[in-house]
Amino acid sequence: MSNYNWCHNPDCHKIETQSRVRGSGDNKVLRTVKIKSHGTDSIWTYFCSDNCLHQFLNKFPSEVANIRPVNKPSETPIQVEKTKYESHRYNWTANGTERVPYQATRTTISLKNS
Ligand SMILES: [Zn+2]
Repeated sequence: MSNYNWCHNPDCHKIETQSRVRGSGDNKVLRTVKIKSHGTDSIWTYFCSDNCLHQFLNKFPSEVANIRPVNKPSETPIQVEKTKYESHRYNWTANGTERVPYQATRTTISLKNS
């Protein structure tokens, strides 16, 4: 089993960077980036950069979406807690700024215990 992949962006070899140049003299080419595997299965095992990943996603949007179709929304039960607290803002005045207290509301969302 190989311990590397070639970048899966079909246009990786068209991106002009020094790191892609191979060959010598008049036989130089831009080559797809070789990605060494570090034993972890992440997206970066298949794409050499953000640029290549996004070029791939933009070239095959419906194919990517059809890997795991979403036909209805999902929902996560939550608890919403609102708490009041003392805060302040600054008003501009002729003598500089003036600190004005006000009652603010903090909203905390937590997952419901199931
Ligand atoms: Zn690439």
